[in-house]
Amino acid sequence: MRKITIIGGGQSGLQLGIGLLKAGHQVRIVQNRTAEDIASGRVLSSQCMFHTAVQNERDLGIDFWSDTCPPVEGISFAVPAPDGQGKAVDWAGRLDRNAYSVDQRVKIPRWMAEFTRLGGQMVIADAGIAELEHYTRTDDLVIVASGKGEIGKLFTRDEVKSAYDKPMRALALTYVTGMTPRADHSAVCFNLIPGVGEYFVFPALTTTGPCEIMVFEGIPGGPMDCWSDVKTPEAHLAMSKQILETFLPWEAERCRGIALTDDNGILAGRFAPTVRHPVATLPSGRKVLGLGDAVCLNDPITGQGSNNASKAAAVYLKRILAHGDGAFDETWMQGTFDAYWDYAQWVVSWTNMMLLPPPPFILEIMGTACAEPRLAQRIANGFDDPRDFFPWFADPQAAGSYLAELRAA
Ligand SMILES: Cc1cc2nc3c(=O)[nH]c(=O)nc-3n(C[C@H](O)[C@H](O)[C@H](O)COP(=O)(O)OP(=O)(O)OC[C@H]3O[C@@H](n4cnc5c(N)ncnc54)[C@H](O)[C@@H]3O)c2cc1C
Repeated sequence: MRKITIIGGGQSGLQLGIGLLKAGHQVRIVQNRTAEDIASGRVLSSQCMFHTAVQNERDLGIDFWSDTCPPVEGISFAVPAPDGQGKAVDWAGRLDRNAYSVDQRVKIPRWMAEFTRLGGQMVIADAGIAELEHYTRTDDLVIVASGKGEIGKLFTRDEVKSAYDKPMRALALTYVTGMTPRADHSAVCFNLIPGVGEYFVFPALTTTGPCEIMVFEGIPGGPMDCWSDVKTPEAHLAMSKQILETFLPWEAERCRGIALTDDNGILAGRFAPTVRHPVATLPSGRKVLGLGDAVCLNDPITGQGSNNASKAAAVYLKRILAHGDGAFDETWMQGTFDAYWDYAQWVVSWTNMMLLPPPPFILEIMGTACAEPRLAQRIANGFDDPRDFFPWFADPQAAGSYLAELRAA
């Protein structure tokens, strides 16, 4: 039995903590908010999770919601026509297996209770350097899974792996009820408005039951970077509707009867996508290992953060269990992050690509998918495993060969 402390009980920290408890380890999670604070607090994510990530939860017996959460069955993609009349690009692809978005205000308190029920020690405190020093002195391993929390700055930015040093989108979330469902099947309805930003929307489960989550990604300085003067929940909802009426009339049409799920079902903010060095050295010289957003923070444009957090927690769990009685030294820590990075580098690369204006070969891929259902389905399922986008979604020549192959087949 090893003694392990995890700072931060979010998607990655709790999933890993529960996995370690189930394998017989002694685990403490330090969480700076109580379950009640989280359940009654503001939304922080849209957290749409695809099959592989949800399966990690099922494997640990902590997917408590697939029966009640409305499923996401596909991905649709639309680009408005330049003359403002209808859509220039419009397709949908089915996911092989459903995705789900469970509001973290529902999930995290339930997982905190499960962690405690399984014998884990939940400490409610805001951990700083002094606490990290204490836990590294008493425990075999300390992992920092603090998301966007300040303590994560302990990990220095990796200049090579970080493509941007400033926010690339002004973000906003609006959780609503009363939206007209998409025809045919449910989907993440992704809309790209050239020069303005992106809007996507999908079904989810929140504290009051089923809802739809609207996600706005505005290019900084553009017309969708418009949230700074929005001060009330009513004004936030009105701005959400106004954006759709201006740029995406088919989405506005679905929103005639919408209402906020609750006054905390809104969020506006921005952050720079950043990859950090995964091992930090405390003043004492002892080391801590970073996990999830603390060391690999992506823009939500591709909806990968919770998926990454789940996949990272699964990799770290496997590495800890395989290490037996070995020392959790710096080499092991770096090797553990590297094992995750083998996968995550493709997610980061794809996500960062999507933050730039699409080059002509990407426009050709997205246009071809309108007439080629196999391509639409492949793109949809790439959200579950973005490694499948490479090389054909990243390299014009590979894209050309793949599209030619598809047309010939
Ligand atoms: C607008 C938006 C939309 C998103 N949409 C999606 C999506 O559709 N799909 C998707 O997969 N991802 C999405 N994400 C990203 C996703 O929510 C995160 O990537 C994911 O929650 C990261 O998990 P984590 O465990 O690393 O951190 P978190 O879930 O953030 O958990 C960190 C925890 O640590 C606690 N903490 C922080 N500092 C301390 C401290 N010093 N001491 C103790 N506790 C501390 C925090 O309170 C929190 O509970 C979105 C994010 C945003 C901002």
